[in-house]
Amino acid sequence: MSNKIRIATTSLAGCFGCHMSFLDIDERLTKFAEIVEFDRSPLTDIEHCGECDIGLIEGGVCNSENVHVLREFRRKCKILVAVGACAINGGVPALRNFIPLEECLGESYLDGIGVENPQIPGDVELPLLLDKVRPVHEIVKIDYFMPGCPPSGDVFWKVLTDLLEGREPSLPYDLIHYD
Ligand code: SF4
Repeated sequence: MSNKIRIATTSLAGCFGCHMSFLDIDERLTKFAEIVEFDRSPLTDIEHCGECDIGLIEGGVCNSENVHVLREFRRKCKILVAVGACAINGGVPALRNFIPLEECLGESYLDGIGVENPQIPGDVELPLLLDKVRPVHEIVKIDYFMPGCPPSGDVFWKVLTDLLEGREPSLPYDLIHYD
């Protein structure tokens, strides 16, 4: 059994920009790879999150599948971190919260410019949309938050090295931003 720190990451209603920013830790990735291994993440083929030390959640919660994945991460990860504006407050996807869901679906699939063969997708395999896009802390307990859209590579590095070295994560003022 490996004694590396096990990390899982996922994107719910997000754009993967936070994941891209994670890679901005650049050459520090090599050092990181010596002490951590990835469970479910875009880097692996793992479909369900296993027992992990740290879970990183990008994106808010917009549908039933997001709720399921988020709850699984909460069950399996000792520490759960909300990464980026979408996870923390819904971000850009939550702009739809100001418009009735029926109107959003109509604009996207029935009445919008360029729509051909108008019909709202209804396959049973599709996850059900929630009426509103929710921040992750409204669904499960979140231990730490990484602000930013996206958080910079330096924010990832600071929070993760704090956690890996057993410290309470803290960000210096110049790393805290919400844009
Ligand atoms: Fe994308 Fe920004 Fe949301 Fe991250 S916080 S998923 S970069 S929109």
